[in-house]
Amino acid sequence: MEIETLADKKICILGLGKSGLACVKKLSGLGASLMASESKSPDKIPQGTAEFLKTLEIPLETGGHTDKFLCESDLIVASPGVYLDIEAVEKAREKGIQIISEVELAFSFFTKPVIAVTGTNGKTTTTTLIGEILKNEGYKTVVAGNIGLPLISVDDTDFDYIVAEISSYQLEGIDKFRPRVSLILNLTRDHLERYKGMERYGQAKARIFMNQTKQDFLVFNGEDPLIAPLIKDAVCQKIQFSLKRASEKGAFVNSGYICRLDENYVEAICAVSDLRIKGEHNIENCLAAASACLALKVSKFAIAKTFKEFAGVEHRIETAGQINGVEFINDSKATNPDSTVAALKTLGKDKNIILILGGRDKGGDLEVMCGVIKNTVRSVVLIGEAAERFNNALNKIGFNNINQAGNLEEAVKSSFEMSRPGDKVLLSPACASFDMFDDYEHRGKAFKEAVIKLKHENA
Ligand code: ADP
Repeated sequence: MEIETLADKKICILGLGKSGLACVKKLSGLGASLMASESKSPDKIPQGTAEFLKTLEIPLETGGHTDKFLCESDLIVASPGVYLDIEAVEKAREKGIQIISEVELAFSFFTKPVIAVTGTNGKTTTTTLIGEILKNEGYKTVVAGNIGLPLISVDDTDFDYIVAEISSYQLEGIDKFRPRVSLILNLTRDHLERYKGMERYGQAKARIFMNQTKQDFLVFNGEDPLIAPLIKDAVCQKIQFSLKRASEKGAFVNSGYICRLDENYVEAICAVSDLRIKGEHNIENCLAAASACLALKVSKFAIAKTFKEFAGVEHRIETAGQINGVEFINDSKATNPDSTVAALKTLGKDKNIILILGGRDKGGDLEVMCGVIKNTVRSVVLIGEAAERFNNALNKIGFNNINQAGNLEEAVKSSFEMSRPGDKVLLSPACASFDMFDDYEHRGKAFKEAVIKLKHENA
């Protein structure tokens, strides 16, 4: 994508959320001729958006995508979360119209190196960690992408590095996007309702390194069997991180320390027990972040300092309060069974967990999670659309201590009623939130509010 030619193009912005709106702002500043197409009804798009477009005289369609908008443009810019294989987009593609994601558009404006993080789980935590390490090393760093600030809103003039969280949807729409360091954290069976198979899901993730050259780095999880075959053709420098084995260039765990190899000597960076975020999955996230930063020649002191200070990101195994000796933990971001397993392995040592589970089912395999629930959880409280399938899956392996609740507040209440001092009430739903909430953040906030309310009632 050449910036110089954008002004001459008729561009259709597909999806008018936060990032679509940011694309409109950026491109209208360049004088491009714009249109915007949104599948949601007008009341579901951010307030003031339609009025804003009207003032700029940008045509807007809502409630669906028509040929008039998509097929009469020279270029389509898709917002994160927009599927690029929907019929309307396929039709435009067949007509030879170029389709890119917001990430690709943003990249065409960048002049500073990008560190791009993808994977099924751990993206936000690892992206945030890398941002913090680089800041502690003294670099001016901006963290953006799926993590809150749209990439297209970033003006990199005053920054040294851009750290970006990138989803597989966005990777499908890249063309020249070339990170200095790319990271693939893990590949598990999430988003299968969209991808209908691991192969395509993996291929989408693998696009993260497709433009990288020998000067660039790819950091990957050496213990994930699905990643090795995926990256075999990558031409950049590959850096493996591992919980189990020493790695030539990446970080690994050895005798309770996060280490790296320096001229064949094992050099300790930080004790695993000093990490403020807990759980094996978070050790992996730290290893990934350390490996990326070591590739950029960041000092081990900045890495260790960050690991000792970083308290984690909201809605990820976050303490939400204590009532009469019962701890409430908000892990609303666990939107698939693997992340719920990660939380249970971190917290479930004494079988004292009451687990709030359910929401919008993504259709993934439940067997592994149900096995872990059987070993770590005393009672399950089910909510949302997934309740029936989850109930059946748990019954099938002989776990019957299951209750149903009509909504999250009720689930919090009944979990507390069945708890004993020393127990943990964990919201780690293994599902998307959209059956009952706007997003996982809304769900996490509702959980925390329900806990506060319950605390007042029991004061
Ligand atoms: P993402 O941005 O990819 O969704 P987050 O960092 O927001 O990842 O973490 C979401 C949830 O996924 C966490 O609450 C945790 O339960 C789980 N998780 C985090 N890191 C990992 C990992 N490396 N492997 C497996 N699960 C993880």
